Amino acid sequence: MRIELPRTSERFGANVFYGPVQVYELDSGFRGQGGAEEGAIIALPYERLHEIQRQMAVVVPVRGERIRLVEGILFAIPNQCLAIVVSNSPREPVDRFRVEQQALCTFARLARKRVVLLHQKDPLVGKAFLDAGYPELVGDDGLVRDGKAEGMLIALAVARLAGKRYLGFVDADNYSPGAAHEYICEYAAGFALAECQYAMVRILWQSKPKYVDGQVYFAKWGRTSRRTNHFLNQLISRYTGFETDIMATGNSGEHALTLELALRLDYATKYAVEPQHIISLLERFGGERESPYPDVMREGVEIFQIESRNPHFHRAGEPDHIREMTGVALRTIHGSFLCPAALRREIEDDLRLHGVLSDDDPPVEPVRRYPPLLDMDFGTFHHTVERRLQTTSVEPVRLQKKGMSRPQPPSMGRTRPVRGRPADDQGGTSPPDQ
Ligand code: GDP
Repeated sequence: MRIELPRTSERFGANVFYGPVQVYELDSGFRGQGGAEEGAIIALPYERLHEIQRQMAVVVPVRGERIRLVEGILFAIPNQCLAIVVSNSPREPVDRFRVEQQALCTFARLARKRVVLLHQKDPLVGKAFLDAGYPELVGDDGLVRDGKAEGMLIALAVARLAGKRYLGFVDADNYSPGAAHEYICEYAAGFALAECQYAMVRILWQSKPKYVDGQVYFAKWGRTSRRTNHFLNQLISRYTGFETDIMATGNSGEHALTLELALRLDYATKYAVEPQHIISLLERFGGERESPYPDVMREGVEIFQIESRNPHFHRAGEPDHIREMTGVALRTIHGSFLCPAALRREIEDDLRLHGVLSDDDPPVEPVRRYPPLLDMDFGTFHHTVERRLQTTSVEPVRLQKKGMSRPQPPSMGRTRPVRGRPADDQGGTSPPDQ
């Protein structure tokens, strides 16, 4: 892949947010083919991306999607990745999960691909989280709660058991396997550019086509993403003192993280999960409060935003769904201890203007948050859930047998500071203008 090197960045404590970069060639060939580096653009050889993808789990969260769409995403996942499908599809009156199971088994056999399929409401999965000391994810009925973020946390635990270093997410409601394939290659490209082991890659959609006046219109920004980005940028600006537009992927469902970073973030319920990643980075590694992870503060975190070349064709959301998504995204920013009072008021005004909040409503409520998975007892989780993984995966997943009771120390990456930044400089933020 031939890709632009980030030209702009914004520092916030130990975090470096890079501005969006463009892709100039989706496939630039093998090592040494066509020139390696031309100043602002770098050619990442196929071998490098393949090596990263070999260590990557690609997660597909599913809830009642048409089976053709789910299959289409599986066609898009490179063979060298482990695919993890976490389904919360209804089991009555028709058992949609059984249909998914049959389709995925056939597919995995034909494609000789490793696929793990789990149902979010499998009682054994809920029990595994309880046994492992992570009860927050489990409801009173003993089952994992509803929501996409909740499914993502199950997948994160499975990826950890499978010993993966990278975790990429691809929504199942995507009509274009070609676009999904591109995102997964771009995840690998972002990790290839990263200089530290705590890294995140977020996809900026080239466009999201829709019908306007009977014609296809390649819209760049959705209603939710426009406002989420605006308020995230405002939050960063209030601390740095310089207005910024660095954040362009506040709602990006298509994103990937190194496992080491994914295990150290907290997660917000349902659709708040993507903006919450940014809030979590700012809160935990922004330098405003003492970080629970000094190793991350020392090494730094890199956040890449890569603009895809394919348009993103997905199932269009209904107005209520858009309202719900925007509501939880903005409540995530509103609920952060970092959010200055003046910005809180602006968010409340926005929620009222767009009919998410009425004058009679109680104050904006915070969204449910889940703590980092890092301290979960993975050995116990493994013990409880292993049987289920062996029966639902088409090829047995090679689970890590050793050292599961405590997380492994970081094993990848170089331990040097982020580009051009002295090790003792954790960024220059100042208190907000309240
Ligand atoms: P949007 O695409 O961000 O507007 O949100 P969607 O409602 O389309 O959901 C995004 C992805 O998450 C899709 O693949 C859904 O099938 C999936 N999804 C939604 N709710 C759940 C859930 O409760 N559990 C799981 N595992 N996946 C979900």
